[in-house]
Amino acid sequence: MYIVLLGPPGAGKGTQAQRIAAATGLLHISTGDMFREHVKNNTELGQLANQYMSRGELVPDEVTIKMLLERISRDDAKAGAMFDGFPRNVAQARALDEALAARGARVDRALLISVPDEELVARLSGRWICRNCGRLYHERNDPPAAPGRCDACGGELYQRDDDRPEVVRSRLEKQKPPADLIEHYRSAGVLREINGLQSLEAVTHDLLEAIK
Ligand code: AMP
Repeated sequence: MYIVLLGPPGAGKGTQAQRIAAATGLLHISTGDMFREHVKNNTELGQLANQYMSRGELVPDEVTIKMLLERISRDDAKAGAMFDGFPRNVAQARALDEALAARGARVDRALLISVPDEELVARLSGRWICRNCGRLYHERNDPPAAPGRCDACGGELYQRDDDRPEVVRSRLEKQKPPADLIEHYRSAGVLREINGLQSLEAVTHDLLEAIK
């Protein structure tokens, strides 16, 4: 089963993807995580991607699609995967459709987590991430037990450059799922819309129902 998670930045895609992966055993593929790993390791790709990421812009399709196609060609993605942060536009969606079609598969569900803009700005400015294990926290909704320290591994928590408030608004505008991308999946009959204003648990519940 191949699932695409759609939603604006701050809709809870990353958190929900982790919860759904844990509940279903589906492989979680996050292009954002992959880029951040490259940035951390200071690879050539990381240096290129960071020029866009630090400005809240999308990394060019050519680079992103190549990285994603290489990832899904590996054995662990043969049985299925859940994509978090990909595709961001119709060109990326078509590249994914083609790659899956070549192996007799397709995107079985596109799950759109919907949240109004004002709520997104409040949420995004409060997000913290563990530098060591990648676990996500939120000042208001899901704080760590000790400020600045990861509950899971004790690692240092940091705020992403692109989660700073001044970058958030422009990132929202540039990174909302575009209408034609949503339409791409609606017309394929695989789109399910989930109300992202509910509790973390209720959103997970609705997402799991939608992929049953
Ligand atoms: P995310 O963690 O999904 O919010 O991604 C963080 C940043 O990585 C984004 O702001 C983009 O700069 C870049 N990125 C992640 N996924 C994609 C994608 N599918 N296409 C282009 N850029 C991406």
